[in-house]
Formats: sequence, structure tokens, C-alpha cells
Amino acid sequence: MKKQDTKLVHSGSHPEKQGGSVNPPIYHASTVSKPSVAALEIAKNEPDTNFMYGRHGTPTSRAFEETVAALEGGERCVAVGSGLSAIITAMLAFVKQGDHVLVCDNAYSPTRNFSEKFLKRFGVETTYYDPFIGTEIIKHFQDNTKVIYTESPGSHSFEVQDIPAIAEQCHKSEIKVVMDNTWSAGYFFKPFNHGVDVSVQAATKYYVGHSDAMLGAVTTKAENFAAIRDSARILGYHAAPDDAYLGLRGMRTLASRLKRHEKNALIVADWLKTRPEVHTLLHPAFPSCPGHQIWKRDFTGSSGLFSILLNEYSGDAVAAMIDGLELFALGGSWGGYESLVWKTQLTRSATKWDSTKPCIRLHVGLEDPDDLIADLTEGLDRLNNFS
Ligand SMILES: *Cc1c(COP(=O)(O)O)cnc(C)c1O
Repeated sequence: MKKQDTKLVHSGSHPEKQGGSVNPPIYHASTVSKPSVAALEIAKNEPDTNFMYGRHGTPTSRAFEETVAALEGGERCVAVGSGLSAIITAMLAFVKQGDHVLVCDNAYSPTRNFSEKFLKRFGVETTYYDPFIGTEIIKHFQDNTKVIYTESPGSHSFEVQDIPAIAEQCHKSEIKVVMDNTWSAGYFFKPFNHGVDVSVQAATKYYVGHSDAMLGAVTTKAENFAAIRDSARILGYHAAPDDAYLGLRGMRTLASRLKRHEKNALIVADWLKTRPEVHTLLHPAFPSCPGHQIWKRDFTGSSGLFSILLNEYSGDAVAAMIDGLELFALGGSWGGYESLVWKTQLTRSATKWDSTKPCIRLHVGLEDPDDLIADLTEGLDRLNNFS
């Protein structure tokens, strides 16, 4: 079996089918024609390989899907138009009216919204659970629990979950384990080696990697694939051709970009943890981050996204710090080449969050870390000098 950096470069590449070009053509297709009625009948029985309609995928989106599946270690992948569509595809694949899902309390807020404003309307109940619950998850199981949703680490507060412990309990009760694996990009955490049934990626982030396209991916082992594919198809979700191409293009350089994001983020975090303004560093590679021991056990590295909790400063002081930053743009996405800052508001229902300490999320980009530290130094000066 090839190593993951090799897979990232070669998976999904079929030069022999594309005139020798190493990259796939971008198929802009709605109509896919068939040469005969007999061929059409055959195609109906080969939904994965025999293209029928643009919404069901093209050779461009398949190349992206193959590459994601190879990286995440699943067998099959469905590309959709955004990370949120990937989450919805995964959840709706396994629930019906009257069912129950368990969602980690630190979940990405649109995931919570989907549960509150949508699943609820269709008679699917959500219970939030403490992300550190581990094997105790069993206490929340109901007869109608169908899905447990995990996000590890949480993309704002960075709790690392004990996924193998949770998965072991779920599998005894035939509950599907869905994981939002965007933080690790499927590079630093292998979901299918840790009991996950369906792994979701906001490919918008590190796969696209250049902040210029929206894309999602849902990856599974073979046994759950039909449910996932049907869910995406019934919902009408698909990945736009240019965006699937950009996702694949980004993945070719993912390994080198991620390693640099990792290194830069560690340098910036190491410096931040020495600063008196910083109360807590929430970066899974540091012992101050809840779940650090699990990260050490299950992950092989860290990406460029982490948070800090500041000491108690006024909202205006924090705004002065953020507004004056030159290299860290204020933006809610991440995973592109550039550094970003975000002022996080956290919603909690099963656990408590001390919101007296401003939570600042940083995405550390590919700039020179010396320049990033200089920019943040001036930011912390503004924070201190604000009156
Ligand atoms: C951004 C993000 C998503 C959603 O992805 P979109 O492509 O923006 O829909 C899902 N999960 C996490 C952790 C994210 O950061």
C-alpha cells in the first residue's frame, strides 16, 4: 500500500483516458447521452461508473472522490457542493421520523442549526452530549438512536474526542458514527481506523486550499455507500465541475501545504503561550488543550487552526486588537493559504463555557511566521493600550 503523500499525488489520475494529460478535463455537463436504449438500460444498473446525468457526477468529480477516499482510507466518496451539504447528506442517510441523533456539544454551529431548525421539524430529535463523554455515551442511547455525530477536534474550541471509545459503544447498538474530520483534513486522522462509519470533509477548507471554491465530501466504507449516494442524489446535491477540479488540484499539494501550516501554527502557538495576555491555548498539540492525550494517541499531526482564550478584556479592546491586524484577515472560513482571525461565540447546551474570556480563533497561513508574530505582537499591544 502506498504512503499517503504518494496517494495524494496519484490517486484519481487516469492519463490514459484523457489524452495523456495528467489532470482530468473539467466536464461541464448536464446532459450525458447514450448511444442506444440498450446502453441506457445498462447504465441504470451501474450508477457508480456509468455516467447518466451531470448532477450524478462526471469524470472530474469522480477523480476528486477517488482521491478523497484514498486519503481518508474509506472505500467510496460522494462529492457535494459544500461541507454543510456533506453533513446533511450524512445525517439524512440514516434517520427517519421518530428517530434520535446525538450531536457533540462543540459541533460547528450550522450543524446545530440543521438539527434545531430542520431535523426537529421532521420529527427527528437531537440530544447534545459532552464531547469528552467517551464510553459514557451509552447513557444517552435510546431505542431510536440512529446516528452519533462527532467533530474532533471541535473547530472553535478544539476538544479532542475519544472516537474509538464512542464508536465501540455505538456499534454494539447499530448506531452510525458520523465524524466531521475537516480539521485533520483526513491527513492527520484516519477515521476508518478508529471506528467511524461516515467521514465528512468541508473540502472548501484544506482540499481547495486557496479560499476560492465551495466543496464537500462524504466518505464511507463500502457497506454504507449506497445509503450515502442515495441521500445525496435524492437531495439533489452535487459538486460543481470547476469546484471539484479545484478540490482535486488543491489535494495534489495538500501534504506540503499542511506540513507548513502545521509548522507555522506550532511556532505561533508556542509564542502565544508565553504571552501574559493569553489565558489558555486551545491547540490539540499542547497539553493545555482538553483532549491533548487523545490527540497524541490518535492523530499524527496538527493543522493550522487553533484558538486562544484571552484574559478578561473588553469587547472594544479585543476589536481594536483584531481590526488593526495587517496579515490576519477577519474571516470565518479557513484552510486557505492565508492567515485568518475570528472572534468566536460559542453555543453550549450540554456543557458549560466560560464566556468571560474572549475566544479568538486563528488560522495560521503560509506566510513567514516571524511576520505573523510581529503582526500579533502589535495586536496585543493594542489590546493592552486600549482605554
Ligand atoms: C467550514 C466548515 C464546515 C462547512 O463547510 P462549508 O463548505 O463552508 O459548507 C463544516 N465543518 C467544519 C468543521 C467547518 O469548519
